[in-house]
Amino acid sequence: MATQEDNLKDIIGHAKEYGFVFPSSEIYDGLSATYDYGQLGAELKNNIKEYWWKAMVHMHENIVGLDAAIFMAPQTWKASGHVDAFNDPLIDNKDSKKRYRADVLVEDHIEKIRAKIDKDVAKGLKRFGDDFNEAEFRATNPNVLRRQKQIDEIEDRMRDALENERLDDMKQLIEDLEIACPLSGSKNWTDVKQFNLMFSTELGSVSGESAKIYLRPETAQGIFVNYLNVQKSGRMKIPFGIAQIGKAFRNEIVARQFIFRMREFEQMEMQFFVRPGEEMKWYEYWKEFRMTWHNALGFDQNAYRFHDHIKLAHYANAAADIEFKFPMGFKELEGIHSRTDFDLKQHEEHSGKKLRYFDPEINESYVPYVVETSIGLDRMFLAVLSQSYTSETLEDGSNRIVLSIPPALAPYKVAVMPLTKKDGLPEKARAIIDDLKIDFNCQYDEKDSIGKRYRRQDAIGTPYAVTVDHQTLEDNTVTIRDRDTMEQERVAIEELPRIIDAKVSMRKLLKK
Ligand code: ATP
Repeated sequence: MATQEDNLKDIIGHAKEYGFVFPSSEIYDGLSATYDYGQLGAELKNNIKEYWWKAMVHMHENIVGLDAAIFMAPQTWKASGHVDAFNDPLIDNKDSKKRYRADVLVEDHIEKIRAKIDKDVAKGLKRFGDDFNEAEFRATNPNVLRRQKQIDEIEDRMRDALENERLDDMKQLIEDLEIACPLSGSKNWTDVKQFNLMFSTELGSVSGESAKIYLRPETAQGIFVNYLNVQKSGRMKIPFGIAQIGKAFRNEIVARQFIFRMREFEQMEMQFFVRPGEEMKWYEYWKEFRMTWHNALGFDQNAYRFHDHIKLAHYANAAADIEFKFPMGFKELEGIHSRTDFDLKQHEEHSGKKLRYFDPEINESYVPYVVETSIGLDRMFLAVLSQSYTSETLEDGSNRIVLSIPPALAPYKVAVMPLTKKDGLPEKARAIIDDLKIDFNCQYDEKDSIGKRYRRQDAIGTPYAVTVDHQTLEDNTVTIRDRDTMEQERVAIEELPRIIDAKVSMRKLLKK
C-alpha cells in the first residue's frame, strides 16, 4: 500500500509535470520553502480566490473588500504585538542538527496517541458491526479513556509552559515524553529558544533602527488600520466586515511539506466588526459559515474537523481551526478567531487616533470587537489538489490519473479537440472555441490519439472534452465527454454553453 508520504510525493510530481507548482528559481536549484505557481496553478489559485471573494464579499451586503500595501508603518507591528510576541519556540537536535518547533514535536506526539484511539475504535467497529455505538465506546472504553487522559495531561502541560513562557518546562515535557528526532532517532536536545518570525528590511537609503520596516506577517493589520476609512467612506453600520486577499511573509523555521508551510504565502482574511458582547454569536456564525463553504466543494466531509485552540494567541478570547486531512495528516487549514477589541485598542494607543464607532441603535460609542476568518490560499490549493488527485484502475486494466477538481475551480472548463488534423475539423473546433472562450477557459488540443488527449485532460482536471468529427460538419453536433463518468453524449453545438455552464458555474457552490 502507498504511504501518505508517497502520496504527497506523487502530488508534488504531478503538480510540477502539468504546470501547477514549480520550485521557485529552480534553475538555481530552488529557494527553500518558496514555490511558483505555473500556468494551471495560477488558474486554480484565481478560481479559489474568486470562490472565496464571492462567498464572503459579494454574498454579504455588509462585507466589503480591501487591498492594502504589504509595507506598513513599523509602529503597526509594535501595536499588534508581533515585534514582541510573534515567536516560535524552537529546539535543535544535537545529533542531526535539525531544528524543530517544540510545540509541533509535542503535537505530533499527541497525534500518534490519537491514531491509537482511532485504531481501537476501528477494531470495535469491526467486532460489533452495525451494533457498534462509537460515541458510547469513546466515552467508556478503558483503553480510550486512558489514552484521552494522557492527551489531556500533555495538552495542559504544554499550554501552561507556552502561556507562561516557561521554556524549560517545554523542554522537560519533550524529554518526559521521550520524543526522539525523526531524523537521527536521538533524544539529545538543546534548550528551547524563542525566535521572531518577521522578515525585516530597510526603507529607502537610510539604514538604522528607525528605517527598519517589516514584510507583513499577516494581512489582518492592513484591515485594522483602515477600519475607520472604510467605515466612514462606505457608510458601514455594525456589524460589518472587511475582506482582503494578499501576500504574507514569515521566516518559518520548520518550512517543509510543499506549499503547506512557506516563507511567502497568501492569505484570505476577513475581519468582522461587531458590538461588544455579541462576538460569541458571530464567532459561532462564522465557524458554521466557513465549514459550509468548505463542504459545498463536495469533498469527503470526514476530511474536515474543528480543533479548538489550547493556547490562545495574545489577542483572542476564543479560537478554532478548521483542520483538513492533508496527505501528511490532519493539519490547520483555516483559523476562526474572536480577537476582542485588542487590535483596535492597541492601534488607538499607539497612534493616538480614536478608532471608535458610534452605534445609533444604542446611542453609544465603543471600540468594536472583531471576529476573524483567516485561510491560507496555498493550503487551500493543496487541500483541493490532494483531495482531487485520484489514481483509478479502469475496466480494461489500464490506469488513469484524474484530478477530480470541483468543476467551478478547474483551470480549464472544456477542451475542444478535432478528431483529425484535416478535412476542416481543426477550423470547426477553433470556431467552437471562439464562441465558448468568452465564458469559459478553453483548451484546444489536436496532438496524439483521442484516448491520449482525454487522459491529458483528466490529469489536469478539465470537466468536459468536446470532440469535433466528420458528422459535426454535416449536422453541427459534437460529442461531449464527462471527466468523472467518462460517458460521452452527442449534442448540438448550440447546446454547449448551457451544458457546460450548468456544471462549472459557481452558482451551485454559492447557493449552499
Ligand atoms: P500554523 O500553526 O500552521 O503555523 P498559524 O496558526 O500560525 O498556522 P495563522 O496565523 O492563524 O496561522 O494564519 C492563518 C492561516 O494562514 C493559516 O490557517 C494557514 O492556512 C495560513 N498560513 C499560516 N502560515 C502559513 C505558511 N507559512 N505557509 C502557508 N500558509 C500559512
